[in-house]
Amino acid sequence: MHRTVIVTGSTSGIGLAIARAFANDGCNIMLNGFGLEHEIEDTRLLMEAESGTRVLYHPADMTKPDEIADLIKTANEKLGSVDILINNAGVQHVAPLEEFPTEKWNQIIAINLTSSFHTMHAVIPLMKAAGKGRIINIASAHGLVASPYKSAYVAAKHGIIGLTKSAALELAETGITVNAICPGYVLTSLLEKQIPDTAKARGISEDEVKNDVLLRLQATKEFVKAADIAATAIFLASDAAKQITGTHISIDGGWTAQ
Ligand code: NAD
Repeated sequence: MHRTVIVTGSTSGIGLAIARAFANDGCNIMLNGFGLEHEIEDTRLLMEAESGTRVLYHPADMTKPDEIADLIKTANEKLGSVDILINNAGVQHVAPLEEFPTEKWNQIIAINLTSSFHTMHAVIPLMKAAGKGRIINIASAHGLVASPYKSAYVAAKHGIIGLTKSAALELAETGITVNAICPGYVLTSLLEKQIPDTAKARGISEDEVKNDVLLRLQATKEFVKAADIAATAIFLASDAAKQITGTHISIDGGWTAQ
């Protein structure tokens, strides 16, 4: 039987790469995230054609608990189970703390942290009944270390690592594992959008942001690829990873070794 995977925020970037990798590994997929309707439909159809599995889409807004509950319920009803949950949806805003807009703080905490509480709240009873499950939270190197001007993001990502550990302990004897992946910089729309604001906040050019701010932190001097994150998610969802729980795996080119 095909396993079912829900990937929040999978209409672009890391989430889309993860969804594709699981589809090509034989899983049914529930896509989620924002974007143009026809582009999402094209992606969905292409993934089904490539993988031969079922790929559905649910438009739940990760700031809305009722919509999140409906995402989990719909995946379970239409695809028959929820075996793997990937909490990936995320946004960023870069500004000094004293200028940080309150609505941006609230939005980042809601999407990058609280939505994972809501997805887990809804999915845990289903996984407990099945006696197995995998929950993978896409945190960040910013879940382990900070950078200036990213206060809400750093707070949310540190928070998701705490949530990961707590959930792992609660679920340790249920066959459900809970882990985080901490990527370094991946060139996705989330990262590209923050380059102009980082340049402004630091008073430097956009090229200087890429080379002197972002890649300065990664010892390999290379951006991480979304496919690298997907490969680690596939491993964490495998039987070989059944004793890995309550921890994180860094994929950050050596950033947090420093
Ligand atoms: P991205 O902008 O390409 O993708 C973000 C996804 O989240 C999109 O599908 C978007 O539609 C969705 N999304 C945003 N707001 C939403 C909402 N309210 N409801 C539902 N979906 C919503 O960015 P990405 O870089 O692929 O980011 C994915 C995850 O990886 C995020 O959690 C991010 O913090 C994390 N991450 C990214 C990097 C990086 O350098 N790009 C590094 C570390 C961690």
